[in-house]
Amino acid sequence: MTSKRPSTKPRERSILMPMAIDSDAPLDLLWKEYSLAFKEFDDLTLGRWLAQTLGQIEGKVWRLSHPLVGAYRLAAQQGHDRQIWHKRLVSPPAAYPESPCCRSPQLPLLTRDVRESGLICQHCNETLVPFDEIPADARPDLELWAAQYEPVHAVAHWEEDRRKSAGDYDRAYETAAQEAERLLSRGGSQLAPKLLAHYPAVIWEDHDECLEVRPEDVTV
Ligand SMILES: [Zn+2]
Repeated sequence: MTSKRPSTKPRERSILMPMAIDSDAPLDLLWKEYSLAFKEFDDLTLGRWLAQTLGQIEGKVWRLSHPLVGAYRLAAQQGHDRQIWHKRLVSPPAAYPESPCCRSPQLPLLTRDVRESGLICQHCNETLVPFDEIPADARPDLELWAAQYEPVHAVAHWEEDRRKSAGDYDRAYETAAQEAERLLSRGGSQLAPKLLAHYPAVIWEDHDECLEVRPEDVTV
C-alpha cells in the first residue's frame, strides 16, 4: 500500500496525447525527446517498424505503461503525422482491420472514460470505436465498470466545500485511490481480455493521474 497525497487542483488528462504539441510541460518535453528516435526513420523504415511491432503485440492485452506500447505510441503518432498508412508502403499484419477514424490498423485503448470517448485509436488519438458500437457482449460490463469508477475518480476533483464536509479528506482520497487500483486491475484482468475477442490487440490504461495511482500500484 502506498501513501497518497491529495492534489489541490485537477490536472489535465494528458495520457491520451503524451506529446501534446504545444505543451512545454516537463513530461511532454521528455516524450518529445523520446520521439526523436522515430523522426530519424525514413517512411519505409518507420512503416516496417510499426507493422513488425503490431505483429509482436497481436493477440494480447497490454498495459499502457508497457515500454513496448510506449514506443509504439510514439512511432504511431509519427506515422500518423507522415500519413504512413495512407501511403501503403507496408501492409499491417492481416489480423488488423483498417480504422474508420484514420485508416490506420485498429489498435484500441480502454480508459475509464469509455462511456464518453469509446475506445481510443492509438494512431490519431480520436475515438476508434464509439461506446454504442462496442460489441454487445462486452458493453454492459464496461458500462458498469465506468459507472463505478466515475464517483471514485471524482473524489480527486472535489471542491473545497465538499472536502471540508468529508471531514478527513486525506482519508477519503486514500480510500478512493485504493478503490481505483482495484477497478483498474479489473479493467486489465477481466474487461480488456473480453475485448480481445473483437480486436487484434487491446491496450488498457493502468494508472490514474488525479488519484496518483501509478502502474506499479495496479496488480493483475
Ligand atoms: Zn485513428
